[in-house]
Amino acid sequence: TSSPLPDTSVDARSAAAFARAQQVTPGGVNSPVRAFLSVGGTPRFIARASGPYLYDVDGNELVDLICSWGPMLLGHAHPEVIGAVAEAASHGTSYGAPTTAEVELAAEIIDRTPVEQVRLVNSGTEATMSVLRLARGITGRDKVVKFAGCYHGHVDALLAAAGSGVATLAIPGSPGVTEATTADTLVLPYNDRAAVREAFAAYGDQIACLFTEAAAGNMGVVPPGVEDGVGFNRFLADLCHEHGALFVSDEVMTGFRVSRSGQFGLDGVTPDLMTFGKVMGGGFPAAAFGGRAELMQSLAPVGGVYQAGTLSGNPVASTAGLTTLRLATDAVYAHVDRAAARLQAEVATALGAAGVPHVIQAAGNLFSVFFVPEGVTSVPDYATASSQDTAAYAAFFHAMLDSGVYLPPSAYEGWFLSAAHDDRALDRVVSALPRASAAAA
Ligand code: PLP
Repeated sequence: TSSPLPDTSVDARSAAAFARAQQVTPGGVNSPVRAFLSVGGTPRFIARASGPYLYDVDGNELVDLICSWGPMLLGHAHPEVIGAVAEAASHGTSYGAPTTAEVELAAEIIDRTPVEQVRLVNSGTEATMSVLRLARGITGRDKVVKFAGCYHGHVDALLAAAGSGVATLAIPGSPGVTEATTADTLVLPYNDRAAVREAFAAYGDQIACLFTEAAAGNMGVVPPGVEDGVGFNRFLADLCHEHGALFVSDEVMTGFRVSRSGQFGLDGVTPDLMTFGKVMGGGFPAAAFGGRAELMQSLAPVGGVYQAGTLSGNPVASTAGLTTLRLATDAVYAHVDRAAARLQAEVATALGAAGVPHVIQAAGNLFSVFFVPEGVTSVPDYATASSQDTAAYAAFFHAMLDSGVYLPPSAYEGWFLSAAHDDRALDRVVSALPRASAAAA
């Protein structure tokens, strides 16, 4: 290894903060994955961040490979984004009336994607929930198809687990989700065309829409497969249209990250409706859904499908998102692509040298490392992703964390990079890999 590894293992102040947090909020966190349950140990409390680094309350500098689960494409505290946000906030933070910032953000999204109109909301969950209602309102049908391992936020109808057979309806994915709310949800294995054909054969005239992550990123990264030259998304769009259903592509994670135009920029499949979030909010709560104007016109106040939001199109959030997207040039994507390619190669080398079986998969610059058993050469679906050795991942994760690298605290998540991940940051990651790989062996 070229540079000495930092020791970033001291976490006493984080531990104290976590103990206090657990008194005031369930599990000490406001989103479950942050609690480190699947890797164990103490979540780091973050004091500040800059470029590719997080600084925790114990003063450790950590190379951030999560980037807030996607949003921070430019890196943390980008001076132009912070400047624009400070300027916007100085004028007032919310009016409950239209502003030009939200219109410019909508126009920027439309410029980069196939959608003709968008509606801004506050979270990815809100976007998918609203699209589901819109699709049902437009088609007058009730059923929705989704894939096991694809996450579309914590919408009741989409928080469903696979039932026992392909053409059986889903079961609730959480206590509190009623059987009635998932009775119209079908959960199928990702990349399984026979299963999708079978579901449409059984229920085709009742299906309002099919939801898919544009490239799956929430079971680790599982790109849409290509069979006989036809990509999975193309196949899904065509099958939906044969049956009068709407094809919904969820680009909350991939949008404006895996390319200027998200996964659409990589496979060119035009969905009927799309959802966006993360990068387009520049680190603020902002998300969107959009599609053909003729479909979007079914929304209130033009059409009858109701949807609204006190803070939707918030001027500060819209300014953060717009400034971020305007700075996300081709050069930014080229840099992130190169950084991702380098890390994938280095991780493969280090795990290979330590004899740790693994599979690395990518959708553009979004990639993940699966700690699957020896002999598994690709991960096409959730069942295969679930064969991972999560204990090996936990050992790898903690060795990286104690050497100054902040990985996702779950074996089922993508690794996110930014334009700010320069050679110093990437070299730090590479230096930490041999020891972490040995720990996982
Ligand atoms: N859709 C996808 C593909 C996501 O990855 C996520 C969040 O990770 C969501 C929807 C939900 O977004 P949010 O967490 O903003 O509600």
